[in-house]
Amino acid sequence: MKVFDLIKNRLCKISRKKAVLLIIISSLLFFLLLCTLIIPPSLLKKSPGYSYALYDTNGLLLGARVASDEQWRFEPSQVPVKFKKAIITYEDKRFNYHLGVDLFSIARAINQNAKSNRIVSGGSTITMQTIRLLYGNPKRTYPQKIREAFIAFIFELRFSKKKILELYSAYAPFGGNVVGLEAASWRYFNRPPSELTWAEAATLAVLPNQPALVYPGANSSILLEKRNSLLQNLYDKNIIDLKTLSMALEEELPAKPYPLPNAAYHYLDYLIYNSRNKKTKFYTSLDYTMQKNTFRIIEYWSQEFARRGIDNAAALVLDTQTLDILAYCGNTGADGRNEESYAVDIIQAKRSSGSLLKPFLYAAMLDSGELLPDQLVIDIPTRIGSYKPDNNIPKYSGLVPASEALTRSLNIPAIRELQIFGLNRFLDILKKSGFTTFTRSADDYGLPLILGGGEITMQEGARAYANLMNKACGYNSISPFSRGSAWLTIETLATGIRPDDEANWQSYMNSKKIAWKTGTSNGNRDAWAIGVTPQYTVAVWVGNASGKGNPDLKSVSTSAPIMFDIFSTLPQTTWPDMPQEELLPQLVCAHSGYAAGPNCPDTKMIFRSKKAISPKLCPYCTTISFTPDGKYRASAEDLTGQQAGIYNGSLPKIEKHFVLPPYLEYWYKNTNLAYQPLPDFVPWHTASTKDSFSIVFPQSGTNYIIPVELDGSPGAMVMQAATRSSESVLYWDLDGHFLGLTERVHEMTVAPSPGKHTLTVTDNNGTIQKRFFEILEQ
Ligand SMILES: [Zn+2]
Repeated sequence: MKVFDLIKNRLCKISRKKAVLLIIISSLLFFLLLCTLIIPPSLLKKSPGYSYALYDTNGLLLGARVASDEQWRFEPSQVPVKFKKAIITYEDKRFNYHLGVDLFSIARAINQNAKSNRIVSGGSTITMQTIRLLYGNPKRTYPQKIREAFIAFIFELRFSKKKILELYSAYAPFGGNVVGLEAASWRYFNRPPSELTWAEAATLAVLPNQPALVYPGANSSILLEKRNSLLQNLYDKNIIDLKTLSMALEEELPAKPYPLPNAAYHYLDYLIYNSRNKKTKFYTSLDYTMQKNTFRIIEYWSQEFARRGIDNAAALVLDTQTLDILAYCGNTGADGRNEESYAVDIIQAKRSSGSLLKPFLYAAMLDSGELLPDQLVIDIPTRIGSYKPDNNIPKYSGLVPASEALTRSLNIPAIRELQIFGLNRFLDILKKSGFTTFTRSADDYGLPLILGGGEITMQEGARAYANLMNKACGYNSISPFSRGSAWLTIETLATGIRPDDEANWQSYMNSKKIAWKTGTSNGNRDAWAIGVTPQYTVAVWVGNASGKGNPDLKSVSTSAPIMFDIFSTLPQTTWPDMPQEELLPQLVCAHSGYAAGPNCPDTKMIFRSKKAISPKLCPYCTTISFTPDGKYRASAEDLTGQQAGIYNGSLPKIEKHFVLPPYLEYWYKNTNLAYQPLPDFVPWHTASTKDSFSIVFPQSGTNYIIPVELDGSPGAMVMQAATRSSESVLYWDLDGHFLGLTERVHEMTVAPSPGKHTLTVTDNNGTIQKRFFEILEQ
């Protein structure tokens, strides 16, 4: 009770009159508080959708999309000072001082309207006009005006002047479907509001009141008059100086409106789709010039390819070191050429990798020590099970340096190397390199993985190449390779031996060193090219979004020239120095590229990855004994006795030699003219000649499927053998049935039935070789 008495006492001390006043004031304040809390948000909710906008790294607009109600209306943003001064001077001189309602201008308006007996002047403040715009521009009546004035007052209590001006500028009409300062600024002057001149800001300031004035023609003199009068006003108020005024008066009015840019259509789509907080403005790392150039280049080439039935292309440019996207062109046909396929964003689409993964296998094997940079790898007709890859060229080299196999993009060496390295290990390398699309099992992909049996996205492919370069440069990179191996790989991709048609492109680019790789997928469905320097990574894809193949779709004539064209528009780039501390000197066989063995006749010093342990010794060099004149091969026994004739009693000449087994020599000697096959043995030689011939095909322990001919008859296989001596005669026998003999060209065509078979070949010296293989049912 004590407390209650205390309050009662206190209340009595305040006079009744004062208490009533207090209640009125506090309930008024409470009411206002309620209004500020309730009314404005409901109003703001009425705001219609905004245009999506994409800006480059410097804030330049690169792409925009009309809002859902077909209006160009950008989300509110800061109002630059020139437009702010111009609009306040023109529309609402006392904007900064009133509370939403300007009694002076209302009085003047009532006076003017009464004189002319109609509404000629609104007397509306910018705040009231903002409310009007938020209400969707209803009919101008006195009750509506009063409502606007009331809400304007509440608005002023709730929002800052800055915020109100931002809302006004975002919703003001600027003619046609152009709403808001930003859309108007791009549409009429092709630049952001912050870069408008005083004359331009003044032009835009007079428009919201009479947006129809913007259309050129009869109205332009009125618009000019209004603009100039506003400029004069700004001068009179000391906002601009005389020099600025006279220059501004000279400026011309905007002519034909600029189309709003649409140069990053797919990237904007991508950002909208991936935006979590319903953003409408996207400030990106794109570079305006690079985006425009890339867009122009791929559109140009794509139009050429379209004549040959290749409709689509895409290109991506990354900042190599930061992986930031500098240009993103997800497809071609913006002109309406590809109505259906244009919407597909190839950069995010999963497509066959073609040969793009080969450098990652090379780098991995340099690190594991399974390869030295120029070590010979096998390139002969190969079947693995029923799988028979080919090189896309009708020629085999027998053996080819691994670096050259990479830059010539030979398929057979890649398949054989992958078999040695292991699929699971390679899939692991790919995942560590940043590829997320390899979700199937190693068995499911099989060895064709290295030829494009799996799918990648352009974005991940470009990043993996950029990361390889970053590793070579010694920057932070997720790339799983050592710096030494990454450097050797990118150096090979920049300087390696190319097929003739690709070599032309390289010379075209001789001013820039670029590590690059092309790739054409099976069935000519995807043509890739990725090039990388320490500064830029350029990825290009050409093909049909539908996946339709085309015989003209070859990376060398489609994606490669586009990639080089894009590089030619980019600034000069650098190249990483050889990371001496990450490499070890290695003595290798000059012929085979393997670590030099005791029998290698010629050696040289190269650098290998520091990480590689115990590289393999040269398996091809051996010591050979000849007659003293070097004319024949001969053992010591061959040089004694009557039969030895003039050589009787002489000592054999023993030399170190690079000698290939016949099945490799058969192909190798045709492409390597410097290779000297060994001479024949002396004619009376009878010692073991176990390696004087070899069966090239079939190989032992393998399964084959022979396709049925088109007419339904059983298909045939061509068995092959290679001999060291051109005099050799081979006798062919299959399962105990003599097939025939061959001289010079050792090929035998047979059509074995399904089941297990034994091939026996005998030469004229009596050497016997056998092959065991199985023909599978189709
Ligand atoms: Zn050797």
